[in-house]
Amino acid sequence: MIKVTVYNEFLHEKKSEKVRQIYPDGIHAAIAAFLGEEEDISVRTATLDMEECGLTQEVIDDTDVIIWWGHIAHEKVPDEVAERVRKAVWNGMGAIFLHSAHFSKPFRALTGSPCNLCWRESADSERIWVIEPNHPIAKGLDRFFDIPAVETYGEPFGIPTPDRIVFMGWYSGGEVFRSGITYERYNGRIFYFQPGHESFPIFYQKEIQTVIKNAVRWAYNPSRRSTAAPWVIKTDDPSKYVKK
Ligand code: ZN
Repeated sequence: MIKVTVYNEFLHEKKSEKVRQIYPDGIHAAIAAFLGEEEDISVRTATLDMEECGLTQEVIDDTDVIIWWGHIAHEKVPDEVAERVRKAVWNGMGAIFLHSAHFSKPFRALTGSPCNLCWRESADSERIWVIEPNHPIAKGLDRFFDIPAVETYGEPFGIPTPDRIVFMGWYSGGEVFRSGITYERYNGRIFYFQPGHESFPIFYQKEIQTVIKNAVRWAYNPSRRSTAAPWVIKTDDPSKYVKK
């Protein structure tokens, strides 16, 4: 069973009637609902207003893959929580960053870059092109799929060169964007996926759900180490090193 924790700052849904109509129980609940239908996935959710953002050491230690949605309150996430997530990824926890989570503390810490980009409020459509059809995250998808309305992101995107560009986004307004990218950081796998603006029903779209489900399975590392594992293993006899 893959244990997934969905983090959402859960603010737009409380502040905006329009967003609340789309996601009455929050974006995290919508994501948890479709993941929860999968037999190999169990889901819990966490929000900013919970103690330690709902991401205590105990929760992180019990999480195989974290999904992160944040937008207007990245700075409200304590550094300590972000660092906990980064270390867990180094130890093998998978991480999926959605939409504006490119600016979240853990994503910036893991990529070590500003993660700035061009954007504009719009209701452009986005065509998601599958660049790597054999990548596990693209499983079950055609050459491309369209999202009827999105917020537009554009290059240049201030990130390190990704390990893989699985999806390239093209917008009806003309921009292009590396919409689905992967990194590995030590033992952890990371996927960033651009769609997911709060005022459009993007997380109900079948292809989006397929991508996120695929990404959970791809990011899952069954031999993940405990975060309690020592960072430096001192051994005078290399033959005695046993991989846990
Ligand atoms: Zn947005």
